[in-house]
Amino acid sequence: MSFVFTPPPVPAVPTAGGGSFPVHRIYCVGRNYAEHAREMGHSDRDPPFFFMKPADAVLPVAEGAVGEMAWPGLTDDLHHEVELVAAIGSGGRDIPVEQAAQHVWGHAVGLDMTRRDLQAQMKRQGRPWCIAKGFEQSAPIGPIHPAARTGVLRRGAIMLAVNGVQRQHGDLADLIWSVDETIAALSRAWLLQPGDLIYTGTPAGVGAVRRGDLMEAAIEGLGGLRVRVV
Ligand code: MN
Repeated sequence: MSFVFTPPPVPAVPTAGGGSFPVHRIYCVGRNYAEHAREMGHSDRDPPFFFMKPADAVLPVAEGAVGEMAWPGLTDDLHHEVELVAAIGSGGRDIPVEQAAQHVWGHAVGLDMTRRDLQAQMKRQGRPWCIAKGFEQSAPIGPIHPAARTGVLRRGAIMLAVNGVQRQHGDLADLIWSVDETIAALSRAWLLQPGDLIYTGTPAGVGAVRRGDLMEAAIEGLGGLRVRVV
């Protein structure tokens, strides 16, 4: 088949063991830590719900490097959300909870960057969140660490600091819907495929960043992710 123009490159994220993980889709879980659900004005055990970012929203950042995220515009309230990312290595439909871990290729530290003011406006009007969540470079991500090395991550500290001041802190054990439960729920709604990334939700303490701010995120066992807003 001949394309009518050169297709864009496949979005990809470097892995800790060498080689790159080609990205198929980016699924995100809303309100998945009780304290964050409460800070957003909701009860803490609603069923999981999902939204997506385009695959080319990833902003891969190498270990030890400082990524640069361009100011996206259209907002006065650009928020950080540090999240555990599960990278799917084998797909499936209706995956049982107890088999979900077998589908995880690895994990990474991610940021679900959010134009909070636009999100609030869309919520008020009952409209989709795409403009608030799915813009360019809205999904910074560190190297993907193979689960074969780290094991399945079910607990461990997750945190984010801005300009050296801690903003977010939580533990993966406090996820309302575990990674396994999330995979099971997602695979009832979509055919999960190799290359899918799942941003699993953020702990409390979300807040705004401005141009020049340095975000430093970390998850126990996965190292760090540093991104400057430029
Ligand atoms: Mn999020």
